[in-house]
Formats: sequence, structure tokens, C-alpha cells
Amino acid sequence: MKPSAPITQDVLTFPRKDEPSDKINLVGLTRDAFRQTLIDNGTPEKQAKMRMGQIWQWIYQWGVRDFEAMTNLSKSFRAELAEKFEIRVPEVVSKLVSTDGTRKYLVRIAGGHEVEVVYIPEDGRGTLCVSSQVGCTLTCSFCHTGTQKLVRNLTAAEIVGQVMMARDDLGEWPEKGAPKDETRLLSNIVLMGMGEPLYNFENVRDAMKIVMDGEGIQLGRRRITLSTSGIVPEIKRTAEEIGCLLAVSFHATENDTRDILVPINKKWKIEPLLEALAAYPRATNSERITFEYVMIDGVNDTDDDARRLVKYLKDYEIPAKINLIPFNEWPGSNYRRSSNNRIRAFATILMEAGYASPIRKTRGEDIMAACGQLKSATERARKSRKEILKDAGQAV
Ligand code: SAH
Ligand code: SF4
Repeated sequence: MKPSAPITQDVLTFPRKDEPSDKINLVGLTRDAFRQTLIDNGTPEKQAKMRMGQIWQWIYQWGVRDFEAMTNLSKSFRAELAEKFEIRVPEVVSKLVSTDGTRKYLVRIAGGHEVEVVYIPEDGRGTLCVSSQVGCTLTCSFCHTGTQKLVRNLTAAEIVGQVMMARDDLGEWPEKGAPKDETRLLSNIVLMGMGEPLYNFENVRDAMKIVMDGEGIQLGRRRITLSTSGIVPEIKRTAEEIGCLLAVSFHATENDTRDILVPINKKWKIEPLLEALAAYPRATNSERITFEYVMIDGVNDTDDDARRLVKYLKDYEIPAKINLIPFNEWPGSNYRRSSNNRIRAFATILMEAGYASPIRKTRGEDIMAACGQLKSATERARKSRKEILKDAGQAV
């Protein structure tokens, strides 16, 4: 980051709506549940499948939120729908735009909780980093999210709703009838925001099914990467029931060190984790497993670590690429980022052994949107917004 860069280019805060509602939210229901919900609320069984398909397309393909706009449904049916149902996505509380174009949204979900969602624009594509939980029950020692006390699983509606919210903000819903536009601002999804997705398996799966649905949000399964800290029993299920790409937060090559960095390692050690990854049915050369490796000064960044990592990958025959992530510092953490020279030396050993090992460019660091910096204990988020607004010379 250039030292002269301003902290943010753009700060927006949105008024809180937060009206409670007793209507049923149609967002996040699987096709079966959607159909059944219509039947339970009076749609004749014979019509339910067709109606479901029509409403589904309006919601997910065209981004429509108002039943009145669903013009291929009768006026009376639209009125009935509006009485019983709603199409609700998480409410944006604030949006920060980094000098590099990264956008960080703070969104509000039921119960007054807040989660962060990050959009990273790249050449000809863009990745949305989606959260699966408020906070995280795991306590990886280098991760800011892991220090958040409050934890709850997000519903499928809140997970797919993050994608819909981002498409709203990017203005990316197609006009009905317009020619298919192949350029997508939001072309990829990574489940790398707050939370451990495999501890919220069903909701993550249902949300991703909608994202991948050909009449839904229409992102192919290879455009979705789920990152796990290593919940071994759920890895096989991920391949079977979601079928997306897999990333694993590896971060250490010895059990002692990994026990500290990624404490779930005490339950599932490096060896059973590698076995599960080697058996991931989708792991092929074209669909390699991403090993995420955060580079922490003096902790996990020696040449010996790099060699041990190579040996593991060879011994277990895992088609892999290694993402080296320079440690992102956050207030209160005692770890330091490895030097650039150290990271390059580490990468060279991996590359010479035949493994792609890009050094991840840190994005959105100025707005605390980088990997592992997400934490939205309401206090902290409000305070920082206030401070940022003050810095930007705007009224708070
Ligand atoms: N819970 C899941 C997904 C969210 S974390 C998981 O752990 O895989 C997304 C990635 O950011 C993980 O690889 C995580 O280890 C990494 N990360 C966490 N804190 C970080 C930090 N301070 N600097 C760099 N990367 C970090
Ligand atoms: Fe949770 Fe992942 Fe952070 Fe570990 S790295 S505390 S699993 S979000």
C-alpha cells in the first residue's frame, strides 16, 4: 500500500430499518422447501411446482424483491404472496471502499447481529468473500474473528442474501429479456469470511445450491471455494453434497505448532486431515486443493517448514496449490508478518518442487477487510466507523 493513500475513498452509512416481520422469507429455501411452503399456504399442489419456478427466477435471476413486479403471475396471486411472504436480504449498515477498490460491507441480520462481507474486484472478474457464521467457535490464535465472543450460525437466507446484497450494490441484476451479459463483476465466491463453514454445513450447502442453480444465481460449482480449518468428517460430505472447490487453512507443518495456530488440530491432526484431502473425490489436477498458509515471522516460515509441506503433498499425492498469505496484523495480536524475502524464499522451495505458490496480494488492508481481520463485535465496528468518519472530516 502506498503510504500516502487516504484511509478510505468512500464511507457510507445507511439508516437502520430493522422492522420486525411475521412474514415468511422465501429467500434461502431449497426448491423442495419452497414448493412445500407455497402448498402449506394455499397454492394448489398441482400448480406449486410451476409457481415456484416462476417466483424463483424473479428472485434469483432478476433480483426482484417486490411481488407486484412479477408480471407473469396473476394480480390476485401476487397480492396473496405479498400478504404472506417477503423477499428479505441482510440489510447493509455500512460500506467502506478501499483505495484499491475492495468493498467491505457490514450487514445486519436478525437479532441485531452484524457480519462482514468483502468484495474484491479483479481484472475481468470479482470475488465475494462470504461469511457463514457470526464470529467463530474456533479460536485460531492469529485470526481476529476467532476472538469474537458472540457466535451464531447464519441461516441459508442470510448466506445467499449476502450474494444478493452485493449484486444489488454492484447493480448487476440483468434486465429481463436483455441479452445475456457474460461479464460479471461478481464471478466467484469464497467462503472465507467470518466463521467455519463446515460447522454450519446444511445452511452453507442450501445457500450454495441456490448460488449454483441454473435458474438461480448461476455461478458454476468451480467458481465457489469453501475454506475450512480442517473439520475432517465434513470434508467428504462437501464433495458429495456441494461439489465446490476446497481450500484448507493449513498454516503449519508440525502438529505442535498447528495445535497452537489452528486449535482444531488437537482433535483432527495433520495426518488424518491430509488423508481426507487426498480422498476428496474432486481433487484432480484441474481442481486442485488450495492450501492456505499464513506467513508468521519466526513461527511457521522456515525453509524446513516449506520442505516438510512439500513432502506431505508428495507422500499423500494431493494435487495442490499453496496460497501464501502474509499475516495480516490486527490490534492486539502478538504475531508479526514474515519479511518479504522470507516469503519469497519459502515460495521458491514450493515452486521448485512443482507447486504453484502465489503470494496473496493483500487487499483492503486499509479498511480492515483483509483475510482474518474480520470481526464485527458491534462495539468495535461502530467505534471504527465513527473514527473513520471523523478522520474523513464528516459528521458522525
Ligand atoms: N474458518 C475458515 C474460513 C475463514 S478464514 C478457515 O479457517 O479456513 C479465511 C482464511 O484467512 C483462512 O485461511 C484463515 O486461516 C486466514 N486468516 C485468518 N486470520 C488471518 C490473518 N490475521 N492474516 C492472514 N490470514 C488469516
Ligand atoms: Fe474461525 Fe477460520 Fe478464524 Fe480459525 S481462521 S478462528 S476457523 S474463522
